[in-house]
Amino acid sequence: MSAPDARLAEAVREISADMKQRRDRGTVASYIPELAQVDPGAFGLCVVDAQGNVAEGGDAAVPFSIQSISKVFTLTLALGMAGDRLWERVGREPSGSAFNSVVQLEYERGIPRNPFINAGAIAVTDLILAGHKPREALGEILRFMRFVSDDDTVSIDERVAASEQRTGFRNAALANYMKSFGVITNPVDFTLGVYFHHCAIAMSCRQLAMAGRFLAHGGRHPTTGHAVIGPQRARRINALMLTCGHYDGSGEFAYRVGLPGKSGVGGGVLAIVPGQASIAVWSPGLDASGNSHLGRVALQELSKRMGWSIFG
Ligand code: GLN
Repeated sequence: MSAPDARLAEAVREISADMKQRRDRGTVASYIPELAQVDPGAFGLCVVDAQGNVAEGGDAAVPFSIQSISKVFTLTLALGMAGDRLWERVGREPSGSAFNSVVQLEYERGIPRNPFINAGAIAVTDLILAGHKPREALGEILRFMRFVSDDDTVSIDERVAASEQRTGFRNAALANYMKSFGVITNPVDFTLGVYFHHCAIAMSCRQLAMAGRFLAHGGRHPTTGHAVIGPQRARRINALMLTCGHYDGSGEFAYRVGLPGKSGVGGGVLAIVPGQASIAVWSPGLDASGNSHLGRVALQELSKRMGWSIFG
């Protein structure tokens, strides 16, 4: 592995140092009790460029709960299994409402707006489960994460999973409601169990940036050269990340950062610079839409300094 571009290494170092000392850090999620324990002062940033060089700063090696970022990978897996049939159960439009909104699902007769809001991701998980045992489906998801990140140590934080399982009443409401429309086909407890566990996967910024590489490079796994997915599918997943990856904050993220991105309530964001880089950032404090506050600020600065906005 050679060194990253000096300008990139410097930008990552300076942004990380700056973010570490900022006082406006947002609010750590507390509706999943285990997540409330996380240090709001943490900050990590990692960029993997097209040559596989790594630039990182701050707490880039510290694992955190990836939460909804896992939805990018479950969508990728589910599309591989079901292809375009997936779109019979889930839409592709931005929701303009909160990630856990219940009201929209009733208006739209049990079909979630997109695969990244909770309802949509639960429907995607149900497709992956497809009659298998929850343990097998989870094993499949974990194997995929380990494959794309080139790292066999990626694992699930059982305490976070149990914490959400105990308190995830809204997700249970969404899943039961979709079940009444036949959008969920497995027993609701099975589907939710797999969903809570894949949200509880713990990864560092470095592991996550590695895992995102195939989306930056036309669907190819850069180290083995294998096609994880085809280029058209990679392009489309990036499009969904741009339009829906930050829920009702997606417009603001596109406006400020100009990159496909997916956030999680653990404070992580995965962002893709098509053809160039995969970026992971982590700062646990969230804004009002449930997206990492300093994560967005850092990505805005990095994208500006590197001239990475997809809008030129
Ligand atoms: N597991 C979380 C939930 O279902 C994921 C939400 C998120 O990261 N935005 O509420």
